[in-house]
Amino acid sequence: MTTLLGIDLTDRPVLVVGGGPVAARRLAHLRDEGARITVVAPAVCEDVVALLDDVRWEAREVREQDLDGMWLVHTATGSPLADAEVAGWAAARRIWCVNAGDATRGSARTPALTASGEVLVGVVSTGAPDPGRTAAVRDALAEHLRTGADLRRRRRPPGAGRVVLVGGGPGAVDLLTVRGRRALAEADVVVADRLGPTPVLDELAPDVEVIDVGKTPGHHAVPQHEINRILVEQAQRGRTVVRLKGGDPFVFGRGGEEVLACRQAGVPVEVVPGVSSALATPAAAGIPVTHRGTTAAFHVVNGHAGLDEAALTVLRDRSATLVVLMGVSVLAELVGTALAAGVDPGTPVAIVEEGTTARQRVTRDRLDAIAGRAQAVGVHAPAVIVVGAVAAPGLLEAGGAGDAGVRREPGSDETLGP
Ligand code: SAH
Repeated sequence: MTTLLGIDLTDRPVLVVGGGPVAARRLAHLRDEGARITVVAPAVCEDVVALLDDVRWEAREVREQDLDGMWLVHTATGSPLADAEVAGWAAARRIWCVNAGDATRGSARTPALTASGEVLVGVVSTGAPDPGRTAAVRDALAEHLRTGADLRRRRRPPGAGRVVLVGGGPGAVDLLTVRGRRALAEADVVVADRLGPTPVLDELAPDVEVIDVGKTPGHHAVPQHEINRILVEQAQRGRTVVRLKGGDPFVFGRGGEEVLACRQAGVPVEVVPGVSSALATPAAAGIPVTHRGTTAAFHVVNGHAGLDEAALTVLRDRSATLVVLMGVSVLAELVGTALAAGVDPGTPVAIVEEGTTARQRVTRDRLDAIAGRAQAVGVHAPAVIVVGAVAAPGLLEAGGAGDAGVRREPGSDETLGP
């Protein structure tokens, strides 16, 4: 009867007999699992050659004594007879043996594996081998681990508390990364913002604590030093703390301060990058922040800080796209500064509100008219302001300004872009 055992191969000698593609695949896994590997085969394929930095190769036929001192043997010679002979030697020496030639005649089987953080799932067949079925079951489990599993620790060793800063993306739930989702599935407590994929909070297990420290513009609900204190204190209680932030934690997110606070308190802290609204909301509105032949750089600023000389230079020289975050409430001032500094009043501007969500809206106009239009249509935060040639309407429409490189059908009366 086959069973599953979580064995640790770190630094343990393992013998692989054979040098073909099957051996190569197993070698790569055994290497990742930390085994000390010897390969015995008269010849090896290219994929094995690529692993020779980490693997000792004996270029000859296998001998019985090669098994001495091994914890595990994997035979994949391509010849069922040769594999059976190696398996027989292994049995006589009481060494576990995976027999690639005939799994039913080895003493161990290689499971189909999927890992999620500290959780490792293996699937084997207890009957006749059926790799397609075990892989399908493994894939279904992997999907469950990615999207729905409750991966919280039930037992918390002392000092196991930690903080994970998760970049939640701009708002759409499916723009939260797979790694971010896994961190949420492991969380005992989630410290959340107002922005980002807040609907995921409703999917958490009912006993996961949610601490809302959300800030609204001009009104800091919970001051940053207090957020830092909460993170440290929760982790010191042994909990896995997810700090769920909008966009990317390090783009105007004060993630750096939270990392420092944790480090100063000796709390382990990890950062999961996120899809930043600075790039994602223009993209979701069909605005490329760079476009071949139009703009080859972008500059991201915080609107509250005003436009500094670098930002104004970018606008005047049209050398880059300017992306302004936190700029809606100060839009009129920003426009005034730009016009006074000599920026072309005809420069295209696009404002993307609530990008990537069902409420996304795009408002466009020339620089000298955008503030009035934004006010007329009631533009509100959160919004990203994009200034520069890429914000022109129709840039990505066939035949539009950005379509310089696309060939026209003969007889077309449309004009080519620059
Ligand atoms: N760390 C975040 C930015 C935090 S600053 C990130 O990488 O996205 C907050 C600003 O981000 C808002 O004022 C707004 O300018 C922008 N923002 C965040 N989410 C947004 C969204 N869904 N649509 C438009 N702008 C957004």
